Amino acid sequence: QKDREAPIIIVGSGYGGAVSALRLSEAGKKVVMLEMGLNWEKSGIPFSNLLKPGKSAAWLKKKSIAPFMNLFSLTPFTAALDRLDYEHINVWVGRGVGGGSIVNGGMAVTPKESYFKEIFPDLDAEKFYNFYFPLVHKELKVNVIDEQFLKDCPYYKFTRVGEEEAHKAGFKTIRVPNVYDFKYMEKEFRNEVPRSALNTEVIYGNNHGKNSLDKTYLKKALETGNLEILDLHKVDHIKLNEDKSYTLAIQQIDTAGQTIADKTFHCKKLILSAGTMGTLELLLRSHSLHNFPVHELVGKNWGNNGNFMTGRNWVKPLSGGTGAQQSTIPVGGVDNWDDPEHPFFTEIAPLPMGMDVATALYLLINRVDKKGEVTYDSAQTKLTLNWDQSHTVTMKENANYFIKKMNKANGGTRSHFLFNNGFGADICYHPLGGCVLGQATNQYGKLKEHENLYVLDGSLIPGTIGVNPFVTITAIAEFCIENLIRTNEFA
Ligand code: FAD
Repeated sequence: QKDREAPIIIVGSGYGGAVSALRLSEAGKKVVMLEMGLNWEKSGIPFSNLLKPGKSAAWLKKKSIAPFMNLFSLTPFTAALDRLDYEHINVWVGRGVGGGSIVNGGMAVTPKESYFKEIFPDLDAEKFYNFYFPLVHKELKVNVIDEQFLKDCPYYKFTRVGEEEAHKAGFKTIRVPNVYDFKYMEKEFRNEVPRSALNTEVIYGNNHGKNSLDKTYLKKALETGNLEILDLHKVDHIKLNEDKSYTLAIQQIDTAGQTIADKTFHCKKLILSAGTMGTLELLLRSHSLHNFPVHELVGKNWGNNGNFMTGRNWVKPLSGGTGAQQSTIPVGGVDNWDDPEHPFFTEIAPLPMGMDVATALYLLINRVDKKGEVTYDSAQTKLTLNWDQSHTVTMKENANYFIKKMNKANGGTRSHFLFNNGFGADICYHPLGGCVLGQATNQYGKLKEHENLYVLDGSLIPGTIGVNPFVTITAIAEFCIENLIRTNEFA
């Protein structure tokens, strides 16, 4: 159908969209979800691994887009991973039914309560820690690796070495929960089931093992019979009608990215869950095209969640380095958050390159002292990000402090092999903010200046949450949709 009415439309099928879809469809509401990416499960097309990037590797691009080592040519395809390039920062996002959950590392980290309270002073932290976070852990199927397996498995040498070195340098480490099913991974290791995490699958999708949203929230929502998901449907812009309903201009695309149909959908209630960059682009483009009302705080308070990559070369080369075989699922981290001078958390990240490169990779998460702003360039018809080196000064200081201390205690050098000067300041996996809860929206995510428009995704979090963000995005979405339903917004 090219022209269609739907009572409720959700744009995007990541965490915010999946939570909204489940709770609304459970409440008996008919929901249509539009997703520009592919429904991978339905398509039957397998995900590719890191060593052989294929169809799922780079959204409509001719070359692979991993953070480094992009030697691979590709045929453009509506892949699962996309990279959005801005002047001083590149932002990676997931595309497809399940959004970021398809491509992410599955690290399911609950923020520190003290930091959560600092970032969201108006939220009832007790309710979040006693109710929403436990609920989200259950729904997302969060689990923890068995310590004995971690100790014995050759694929986790990088974690064992990383933790040993961190302790020697005087840092505290933590175990990081994940949505990857570790019991499945143990079976992979015993060759009882097809391999995924142990076969370098992750940022181009996992064929097995990972409980992505299509296997949790979205599956449950579809089982109600009230949710319809249309994949390869890209919303171009939105118009506000006189009766306060919305009209969406949509392009249905094929897997080569060509438009096969232009469609117009109408809805009374619209939920934007297109991810931080997607939601901001839709709002700001619609404003630029048709003067669509957007509150002055839309685009403000954006941050990279303090993402800062760095690495070390020559890590224990004589004793076998970090391991030739590596699981793609991180389970360890360094927690230096309580250090007043250098507060950061860092993931001990895998680098599964099929050979031992004696290199350690770290993704630091820092505070964001200086926030950025997202605007729309009407002439060039694209988003602009006000963000440069001045925003990452303390992040770089922390990375430098960490690497120096690690090298002093353990040997090794700053990694020039991975990054030009040893620092990946321009790599962002966690774009957050721009439609901040209680600022651009009301206390439950309803966009200011609108009666029927809600934003439920990472853009609600003001640029920083101190840990990997999807657990928080999911919990905030649970909180918002519960209250929106309770206050009869969707009656
Ligand atoms: P998203 O999950 O980004 O979903 C938005 C969806 O909307 C996408 O599917 C997109 O295709 C769709 N969309 C966008 N625009 C349109 C449009 N115009 N029309 C139709 N559809 C549209 N976080 C963690 O907590 N732990 C991790 O281990 C972790 N690892 C990561 C690794 C990588 C490589 C990446 C890229 C991210 C990682 N993240 C991780 C971040 C996490 O995945 C994101 O924070 C999260 O997915 C954001 O959720 P969201 O609901 O805001 O939107």
